[in-house]
Amino acid sequence: MKIEEKISHREYIRRYFKRILQSVSFIKGLSVTVRYFFEPSRIVTEQYPENKKTLKMYPRFRGRLEMIEDEHGENKCTACAICERACPNGTINVLATKDIAGKKVLGRYLYRLDTCTQCGLCVEACPFGAIRMNQDFELARTSREGFEMILNRKEGRG
Ligand code: SF4
Ligand code: SF4
Repeated sequence: MKIEEKISHREYIRRYFKRILQSVSFIKGLSVTVRYFFEPSRIVTEQYPENKKTLKMYPRFRGRLEMIEDEHGENKCTACAICERACPNGTINVLATKDIAGKKVLGRYLYRLDTCTQCGLCVEACPFGAIRMNQDFELARTSREGFEMILNRKEGRG
């Protein structure tokens, strides 16, 4: 036997207007679709990875740490290790060496991507503007070795 649902007149009115409101929401959503159809320049959704080659991150985005180098591969790092001490995760290891004049210069600047939280404290701490967070957003690696990086191509000038 089918049990008929008995609802009050007030409940009937409430459901009636609720359904009207639901259809209004649907029209609102549809209007966004139609608007973007006629004005595709307003679309903010990125078609990743199809747009991989042209995709630009916003200026304040923090990717991974990199050393700022000129066109000859020279950097401004003095191997002072202030960035190493500023890093809360032990991600940076600055190995100093000496040049032919016996002056301390940067030997190798080691960085571990897998322990970096992209906090940017190292960049803020560097008094010489020798490092920065780059725009690289694809930070996944296929092996543990890929996380270890030497950031400098040449020894620092000191
Ligand atoms: S961004 Fe933060 S976690 Fe990464 S190396 Fe710099 S200080 Fe360390
Ligand atoms: S990157 Fe800057 S703070 Fe770090 S060792 Fe080099 S000069 Fe010093």
